[in-house]
Amino acid sequence: MITIAQRLATVHDRINTALIACGRPPGSVQLLAVSKGQPLAALRAALATGQRAFGESYLQEALMKQAELKDSPLHWHFIGPVQSNKTADIAAHFDWVHSIDRLKIAQRLSAQRPAHLADLNVCIQLNISAEPSKSGVTPEDLPSLVHRLSELPRLRLRGLMAIPAPTPVVHAQRRAFRAVRDCLESFQHQGYALDTLSMGMSEDLEAAIAEGATLIRVGTAIFGPR
Ligand SMILES: *Cc1c(COP(=O)(O)O)cnc(C)c1O
Repeated sequence: MITIAQRLATVHDRINTALIACGRPPGSVQLLAVSKGQPLAALRAALATGQRAFGESYLQEALMKQAELKDSPLHWHFIGPVQSNKTADIAAHFDWVHSIDRLKIAQRLSAQRPAHLADLNVCIQLNISAEPSKSGVTPEDLPSLVHRLSELPRLRLRGLMAIPAPTPVVHAQRRAFRAVRDCLESFQHQGYALDTLSMGMSEDLEAAIAEGATLIRVGTAIFGPR
């Protein structure tokens, strides 16, 4: 029986090994524990090891967990598809949203962010593998969304998120992650103050780190199967 603490230690080892392998400084990747579909006890076990950032995809499930864990100093990241009728709750209950894929959603989050909270950190989800079924903006539509979104008052645009098509082939993983990084860098060169590449999951976090990920979203490798 492997515990969540042991799984988390293994994930931290993988992160450190990947950082060393590409000459990046220790601590330059943030680990988001993706706890969607996991019971409260699993979050508590991760919390007990010092994990503070949790990612959730389903609003109602997340709100229940947040209510139970309200006395802990946690950072909540929304990583699932955002429907218009959910934006008020998401704006009120999360620190980050990774999955912005259209202006209307961003405008609603900005308008609905409660005044007493800091600006909402957001990433635009990029559909890098151009799969019609996947959410995310295409590289062609990205520049105008970056421009419009960065003018919204209560949002702080931090960078890009991507979920490339899964493949076991490491150079294919790296090619997709590199394309996301190239996009981010092109906006940085245009003067946008972006600092976040949200990419890499349980199966491909090494490739993502090699290509510059600053935040990896890991579920199964920490909590086991959902
Ligand atoms: C579920 C999910 C993850 C975690 O995936 P694992 O393969 O379990 O690590 C990461 N990002 C998003 C957007 C997810 O929905």
